[in-house]
Amino acid sequence: MGRRQVVRHRVLVSTFLGSNPSGPVLTFTLVSYQKIFLFDFDGVIIDGMHEYWYSSLLACEKYLNSPYISFDQKLYKRVPNTFKEIRPWVKYGWEMILIVHEIIKTENPLKKQTQNDFINNYHQNCQRILNDNSWIAEDLQKILDKSRKYQIDKDFKSWVNLHNPFFEVLNFMKELNKREVKTGIITTKRGIFAEKILKQLNIFPEFIFGYEYGTKIKIAAKLSQTYEILGFIEDRKKTLIDIKQNSETSHIPCFLADWGYLKGSDRHSLSDEIKLLKLGNLEELVAI
Ligand SMILES: [Mg+2]
Repeated sequence: MGRRQVVRHRVLVSTFLGSNPSGPVLTFTLVSYQKIFLFDFDGVIIDGMHEYWYSSLLACEKYLNSPYISFDQKLYKRVPNTFKEIRPWVKYGWEMILIVHEIIKTENPLKKQTQNDFINNYHQNCQRILNDNSWIAEDLQKILDKSRKYQIDKDFKSWVNLHNPFFEVLNFMKELNKREVKTGIITTKRGIFAEKILKQLNIFPEFIFGYEYGTKIKIAAKLSQTYEILGFIEDRKKTLIDIKQNSETSHIPCFLADWGYLKGSDRHSLSDEIKLLKLGNLEELVAI
């Protein structure tokens, strides 16, 4: 980290002091930026696989009103492999509702055999399903958020227990704080939900930016104006590639979380700029 980090200073120049026989007098002050380490949330800080399935299923049952699905309460107990295997393609929460809908459909449900066709054209398939059902992505996101809020109001503890934290990451965050490095979360979840889970885990980052604050690249670009960003840990490779290709964020050291929701191919053909990070290597990151 030490060798890679960009030391950035802001030079503040005072106003020109007027006519002076010895020439203009300029004073300047060096201001160091506060150090910060950025984290994605889902798949990096917590494994929420059961919660994604549960909340999306509940949203389908309570709010979607689709004539193509029927419910069996047993569905809530176990996350189907098809859902787990498609999860690495998901960028936004609303896509999970659509995937759950396809898996539990009475006719032609999405199964292992059709899974590859689905993921090979993932974005087109999501769009097609939206169109076929006359759904709007924002509405699906709203009912996912509604499903989470419903569970939080009804039985907060049960909802929190659907998440499994990666304790190595929590320890890493605490260690950074001890070294006066701040921590920040950028997530495509609604910020308030990440905040509620982190609070239960006694983790209080400097900030949490959810999807309501815009894209991760825009947020990172904005943050790099006020912070020295020591690294960003994320499990979506495309997001890291985009960060590296953007001139405002390309200086940020990027780490792909090996323990997250990775596609099989993600670990291969990584550019030199993006480091594959294993849970066991977080300690080394602190030590550098
Ligand atoms: Mg993630």
